[in-house]
Amino acid sequence: MIETSGLRKAFGSLEVLRGVDLRVGRGEVVCVIGPSGSGKSTLLRCVNLLEEPTEGKVVVDGAELTDPDADLDAARRHIGMVFQQFNLFSHLTVVENLTVAQRKVLRRGRTEAERIARENLARVGLSEKERAMPAQLSGGQQQRVAIARALAMNPHVMLFDEPTSALDPELVGDVLGVMRQLANDGMTMLVVTHEMQFAREVADRVLFMDGGVIVEQGPPAEVIGAPKQERTRTFLARVL
Ligand code: ATP
Ligand code: MG
Repeated sequence: MIETSGLRKAFGSLEVLRGVDLRVGRGEVVCVIGPSGSGKSTLLRCVNLLEEPTEGKVVVDGAELTDPDADLDAARRHIGMVFQQFNLFSHLTVVENLTVAQRKVLRRGRTEAERIARENLARVGLSEKERAMPAQLSGGQQQRVAIARALAMNPHVMLFDEPTSALDPELVGDVLGVMRQLANDGMTMLVVTHEMQFAREVADRVLFMDGGVIVEQGPPAEVIGAPKQERTRTFLARVL
């Protein structure tokens, strides 16, 4: 579903990704952990070419995005992304936030777009908030709206970059609950997170990144429970 090979990314002389071979199969949930600055966000951003790799190949859903002739807009339609900051349109209601891209990008009519918006608001437990403005919602609710907005585009893959890091602790659980449900529904997910409990329980595989490479990967029970690499152990000792 997602495949990168020999992926490198440099900003000037700073080599941030130094050869990443990543494989996420259909329906798989892969969590990426690692210290600040190790390249996790850059990796995610390279997967949908928000950041152009310096070298290497990215294939998503059978389409090679690093091919110079690739139709990036078409490919990105099937890749949902959720960031730490929710980036909702503050002047639009919740339901309008969910219909804008559906109408502009997918050319859905208003009635259909609103129906799909409501289905996805129900999915994240926010049906009663469709007429609210983003500022009237808690951070956790805003993030769930952002997830619903991504889902309304019918993505084949969802990328999450620390979706709960900006939230007050008591709001984290609801967002993780929505993500857990999505995983149970069979969504293919690549999730950068510091939530080790979530990674343990939901991930099929955990990748530990450091210095722009995947240092260690495997089932959560191994990577988090019994890491083989010293660097992984040092990192986990700090976060667990
Ligand atoms: P964190 O856990 O803090 O989010 P991260 O693992 O996501 O860290 P990245 O955001 O991928 O790390 O950044 C990796 C390195 O690349 C950092 O040293 C960062 O300063 C650098 N970097 C990221 N984006 C850019 C950019 N657009 N221009 C220059 N340097 C960048
Ligand atoms: Mg990051």
